Amino acid sequence: MLSAHGFRISLALGVATLSAVVGLLVGGDLQLTLVLLVGAIAAVLIVAIGGDPAPAPRDDAAAADRDPAFAEVIEAIAEPVLVTAATRVIAANAAARALLGEHILGEDVRLAIRHPAAAERLLDPGEDHSAPIHLVGLGTREQRWEMRVRTLETGERVVHLVDRTGSYTADRMRVDFVANASHELRTPLASLLGYVETLADGAGEEPEIRARFLKIMHDEARRMDRLISDLISLSRIEAEKYRAPAESVQLADLIGQVCVELSGSPRAADLVTEIEAVPPVRGDRTQLSQLLHNLIGNAMKYGRAGTPVTVSLRSEGDTMVRFAVADQGEGIPAEHIPRLTERFYRVDSGRSRSLGGTGLGLAIVKHVVERHRGRFDIASTVGVGTTVSVRLPIEPSVIKS
Ligand code: ADP
Repeated sequence: MLSAHGFRISLALGVATLSAVVGLLVGGDLQLTLVLLVGAIAAVLIVAIGGDPAPAPRDDAAAADRDPAFAEVIEAIAEPVLVTAATRVIAANAAARALLGEHILGEDVRLAIRHPAAAERLLDPGEDHSAPIHLVGLGTREQRWEMRVRTLETGERVVHLVDRTGSYTADRMRVDFVANASHELRTPLASLLGYVETLADGAGEEPEIRARFLKIMHDEARRMDRLISDLISLSRIEAEKYRAPAESVQLADLIGQVCVELSGSPRAADLVTEIEAVPPVRGDRTQLSQLLHNLIGNAMKYGRAGTPVTVSLRSEGDTMVRFAVADQGEGIPAEHIPRLTERFYRVDSGRSRSLGGTGLGLAIVKHVVERHRGRFDIASTVGVGTTVSVRLPIEPSVIKS
């Protein structure tokens, strides 16, 4: 098949031949006609030798519209996708326009993606662009993007932005968690080592000092033990995150049992229960018992001595059961509440530690509630007290249809 350029050359040769024939018929001078014909053919060949002309730069709109299915395909992709030709953006899906602005179509890539590393990559000719590059600062400040570029046969480039904020945050949380856990374990360990050395240096000969040191060492060892138990619980609960709990649990019985277990604690006399008859929940008895221990334990720790710690249980609608633990303590300033379920987050670290806290209690509660497909809420007024409530779905077999 002839290209457009080839077709034009053939046409020019045809016209030259035809004009020579006409010249011969009209003028009757064969020699002059031959000279004209050779000249015309030579002119056509000179143009032809120049080869196919460089393709004219694409009209942007035409490039984007060239195949409606193409535009539809990139529009269907949830993540931002752009197509660039030379230095310009010739197509962008809705996600890309939402991230970078509606104005990016037809814009220079340096203005469309205002990021030096991205611009450098997109303007770099040739080179294989398979390795992704990481971008910070597109969209919100916390967002992390991975930019993948693929060059098509036409020379156009498909730019795919993948949101990596979630995995970046998870990575950072894991690193922070390991650092925090090591620090929390090292503090009592350093104290233990210090007392062991002091005792070894002869301080233990004085019975009173020895007894005091041993008491501190015992407390520090217990603290490490609590911390390790909570860390193990947390990792177990997380490991079971996607396995739905299978037991039928009567919360009234469980609350009664936990209250008995806490009867030896110094604030046992302040415990008040307000229990209504509720249907059973589908749950994990051990985890729900731990949840109750943590919530009632916190109310006892942070509530004022001599004021009631109230544990209540009632139905909520036809499908949920709500239990709550309320104390009359100092309360929690509102700005801390959203962060309380982070591991090792405490409003007052010194106070938490002196009361034997690990900083993991509410993180455990949150994970248990999530595994039970429940809801968790902290309401607190500074100077008045705190109420922590948990809603759990009732056992499906007893839901009235
Ligand atoms: P901790 O072992 O320190 O008690 P938690 O994860 O159970 O750790 O709780 C995190 C923090 O939330 C506590 O350090 C404390 O500052 C605050 N907190 C939890 N429950 C209460 C409460 N009932 N009243 C006041 N503050 C509370």
